[in-house]
Amino acid sequence: MTSPIDQNKLKKLAEIAVKVGLRLEEGQDLVMTAPLEAAPLVRLITKAAYKAGGGLVTTFYGDPETVLARYKHAPDASFDKAADWLFEGMAKAFDNNAARLAISSENPMLLANEDPEKVGRINKAMSKATTPVRKRIVEFDVNWSIVSYPGADWAKLVFPDDGEEAAIKKLAEAIFAASRVDVEDPITAWKEHNANLSQRSAWLNRQSFTALNFSGPGTDLTVGLAEGHVWMGGEAAAKNGITCNPNIPTEEVFTTPHALQVDGHVISTKPLSHHGTLIEDISVKFEGGRIVEARAGKGEDVFLKLLDTDEGARRLGEVALVPHSSPISQSGILFFNTLFDENAACHIALGQCYSKCFEDSETITPEQVKEQGGNSSQIHVDWMIGSDKIDIDGITKDRSRVPVFRRGEWA
Ligand code: ZN
Ligand code: ZN
Repeated sequence: MTSPIDQNKLKKLAEIAVKVGLRLEEGQDLVMTAPLEAAPLVRLITKAAYKAGGGLVTTFYGDPETVLARYKHAPDASFDKAADWLFEGMAKAFDNNAARLAISSENPMLLANEDPEKVGRINKAMSKATTPVRKRIVEFDVNWSIVSYPGADWAKLVFPDDGEEAAIKKLAEAIFAASRVDVEDPITAWKEHNANLSQRSAWLNRQSFTALNFSGPGTDLTVGLAEGHVWMGGEAAAKNGITCNPNIPTEEVFTTPHALQVDGHVISTKPLSHHGTLIEDISVKFEGGRIVEARAGKGEDVFLKLLDTDEGARRLGEVALVPHSSPISQSGILFFNTLFDENAACHIALGQCYSKCFEDSETITPEQVKEQGGNSSQIHVDWMIGSDKIDIDGITKDRSRVPVFRRGEWA
């Protein structure tokens, strides 16, 4: 059977992953994680990495069938376990300057029928075990990136009216378009896109707003910004000196909110797919930076559990701006995948902030991050609050308001 996926574009995606996403350097090692199903892309990336002079490429495969086998057959004590030794090993590789690439293709509904209590226990054990890896990624020690592969179950969820092959083909084309590999010269397209995003970030940094106000149906939210916050978007320099594109695709410019200065109420404008559960119609109220009331039309149990992960889980770690006219938003496709859906709309993230979004991010200590308003948590979960009905004002130090977005577009 021939693959419904355009192999030429898949090869371009592999090249973009290595040359734009990672910018893998001569002799640099690469640690990759991928679902079994994505092996065709892993092989192309491995080839591209070695051709680019990569040192050692090591891939860890996951398999959804074995995840389900655990839920079905494992003894109770299994649900508090995670392979901490593996993540410690990965952290060691990053300390030795290995780059990190994740391939995402998973079916977001994989765990929809599993016991939420068990799902919660595994998530908690995983959060703890992956801390050494997450720390190095959020602190941006090494160049890293994520790309996507059109998995069959994911494709069928996104295109439920199509047969499997047609769905995979459609999702593949949507991934290629969003990842800007369906053009003649993807490398140049990414250069232009990066220049655009850095121009937006530079404007926001010149304004140095103290807060943003989001307003629209069901939403009146003031998000204070951390002291010394820096807006970023597109490519960025990791601490190992390599400039990379951490997300393929990406449309956002983002920064760190002040964990103690978020007030008002906000509703979600797209479903949030979290570890196999769809959380829809979220409505929360913030006081002094903390969520004090929370509801969800669907998946409320999982959402409330998420908020109880730790103290920082009820506070914001990211605010991001994405115009409604972004290609992903215009595709009209709901991907059920944060990497895509967060690039379709303005969003906020509960939990951990990015220390790279501060002035002097090279030398800033965790204590300083906290003092300046940066949040810390074991989670970082983005959800969408933007639409073509949302206006955003920047609030300056002298309390005047500057239009930033009108009806979902840059003002
Ligand atoms: Zn974001
Ligand atoms: Zn985020």
